[in-house]
Amino acid sequence: MIARLSPEAEQAIRSRIAYFRDLGVFDFYRREGSACDAYRNEAATVTEADASGEYVMEAVTKGDEATPTAVFSSDEDLEIAEPMPAARARMQALPVLNEPTAAVAAEDRAAALKAISEEIGPCTRCALHRGRHTVVFGDGDPSARLMFVGEGPGADEDAQGLPFVGRAGQLLNNMIAAMGLRRDQVYIANIVKCRPPQNRVPEPVEANTCAPFLFRQIEAIQPEVIVALGATAATYLLGGKSPLAALRGRIHHARGAKLIVTYHPAYLLRDPRQKKEAWVDLQLAMAELGLKAPEKSPVEGRA
Ligand code: URA
Repeated sequence: MIARLSPEAEQAIRSRIAYFRDLGVFDFYRREGSACDAYRNEAATVTEADASGEYVMEAVTKGDEATPTAVFSSDEDLEIAEPMPAARARMQALPVLNEPTAAVAAEDRAAALKAISEEIGPCTRCALHRGRHTVVFGDGDPSARLMFVGEGPGADEDAQGLPFVGRAGQLLNNMIAAMGLRRDQVYIANIVKCRPPQNRVPEPVEANTCAPFLFRQIEAIQPEVIVALGATAATYLLGGKSPLAALRGRIHHARGAKLIVTYHPAYLLRDPRQKKEAWVDLQLAMAELGLKAPEKSPVEGRA
């Protein structure tokens, strides 16, 4: 039997797809062992079909049952096979992340960050929570002009609850000092706020779950320049994957800021020859911020 989604449910789906597309998330898929299992024979996956604004909604069935499929265009019929009551109820119960908001006044930024931190709370939204000790929210000046974004906390960060406090953090401190800044004048955060096991790269589902909170931090801080430290930060800030070499050396735009991509400090610890290249990237950031470059790079001397 075919049933029409209510206008509210249709609007909710459209807004959610647009919101995630804005974040650079284009693929929606079903995760085994998740809440999606509750849908069983009535689960639905929503996939962006093409650039014409048309979306495909497929009902996913288990076993040999026929799979009913409905297509809806941007303002046409939205039909989906019954039964869907459980799926519909769950869809409406999904926590909705706040949509991008208006600019936050400088005096309200600390409070805005606190509110985001409180909303994250003792987070269990993704599997990373199982191995972490502390949610590493971010640290620095709520009105920083310059923000650094790394990948995710390591062991030291997990223990202390602060980003970049281990060996890579010491090198980042040196990089910041080389730019003529103090650490408390910038803001530092990560794509994921919980330490991945064995410091592995965050899975897309983990990064996509956590990054919206980072995006809200960026919205609150409104930095002029963001420096993405490494490929993971670049991927999720830019909403697409490219080799680091193809991203370095130019200005990108992300979340209302200029974005510059450079090597992750942990990589620079492994291959110190690349520090000169990283310094070139940092000078690009300094030029955008109108900061005067010291004559000799302290990065080389200190690491
Ligand atoms: N590496 C990161 O990407 N972030 C940290 O906070 C520490 C190490």
